[in-house]
Amino acid sequence: MSAPTLGEFMKSKNKPISNNHLALSTRAIHGKKLYAHQGPVSLPIYQTSTYRFESSEDAIRYAKGDPSVYVYTRYHNPTVHDVEEKLALMENAEAAALFSSGMAAISTAILTLTKSGSEIISTPALYGGTYRFFRDELPKHDIKVSYIEPENLQMLSARVTPKTTVVYVETPTNPTLDIVDIERIVAETRKAEKRIGKKISVMIDNTFASIINQDPFALGVDIVVESATKYLGGHSDVMAGVVIGSAGYIKDVKGLAKHLGGCADPFAAYLLFRSLKTFELRVMKQNDNAIALASELEKHPKVNRVLYPGLPSHPKHKLARKQMNGFGGMVTIEVKPSKKLSPVEAAAKVCDNLKIAVNAMSLGGVETLVSIPVYSSHVFMKSEELKQHGVTPGMIRISVGVEGIEDLVSDFRQALNEI
Ligand code: PLP
Repeated sequence: MSAPTLGEFMKSKNKPISNNHLALSTRAIHGKKLYAHQGPVSLPIYQTSTYRFESSEDAIRYAKGDPSVYVYTRYHNPTVHDVEEKLALMENAEAAALFSSGMAAISTAILTLTKSGSEIISTPALYGGTYRFFRDELPKHDIKVSYIEPENLQMLSARVTPKTTVVYVETPTNPTLDIVDIERIVAETRKAEKRIGKKISVMIDNTFASIINQDPFALGVDIVVESATKYLGGHSDVMAGVVIGSAGYIKDVKGLAKHLGGCADPFAAYLLFRSLKTFELRVMKQNDNAIALASELEKHPKVNRVLYPGLPSHPKHKLARKQMNGFGGMVTIEVKPSKKLSPVEAAAKVCDNLKIAVNAMSLGGVETLVSIPVYSSHVFMKSEELKQHGVTPGMIRISVGVEGIEDLVSDFRQALNEI
């Protein structure tokens, strides 16, 4: 039998299955489709910038707005499309838009909902890139961001004005692993909506938890943004970001994305599609390793504090238990300074002493990574901004991987013993 043409393949491969009821791991492996007989088991990479029309009839159909006509990869790509479908399915959402990075996703998601004069209310402890986008870029477009402490959420509703279009939250926070009460944020926002008679979108950055550990839509959130570079990708080899929400909103996001140009690359999409097949295996193991490592580090005499929402000593442990299904793979420790070393020097020495954990900035991969927030995610911030974010110089953020836990524990012990 001769190989099918691309067009035949595209027509034959789709056997949509209604699989919203399947387990998360099943959805993460199979996505929305079971491929037709003789179709490939893995996702084909449509490594093309453009698509040949069968005839100019296709161009006319495209010009009339037919979305099924593929034209140009900045607008749409079959490989990217399948990943978007899979991510929406995994999150029980109507639609998703894939981007070239988490920041492309976040900036496009925000700009879709704002215009000159709009206001955003956010919790203050944010990923540094998001915070700097809010601080340095949005004011150029006359978009204001005001911050409300997680402890003062009862004031959120009163803070909303008719210009408020987005309430933005990140939880657990980077790198302090604070927990923000998602249901409270949603409740206060809905109260304010009634008062001003207008929709306000609650948007969450779910990067640290990921869908396995925290299901924002089940808690009433409208939009999820995520750096897919982290847990979704999981191997420190792909840059991508995703916006997930209602079909109408994602249509608008994709419209703006055409102009801003942060489209996902087909090869990155393929890597992501493949990584999602082991998503649950990876994240469950990272959860197990993180709680074990956090508990051990809490006993170490050179450690001042361990911040991990799964530890009973965490100030928001009860809230974390309520709104999270697992506590994630991120642990932050604050090392004790010594007579010879300042806090940041002590933190740097520990990072340099580690033999297994890698001193690198990202997170969510299978290999354990460490970074010092004042030199990485929270660089270029004044001391009062660091204070506002709860970041101290002696902090080390650990992205716990899937190595043998006994090796990780002894690696951190020996590195801390050296200071
Ligand atoms: N959100 C969080 C919580 C992050 O940690 C990061 C990156 O570290 C981002 C967003 C931005 O993602 P990306 O680096 O893929 O643009």
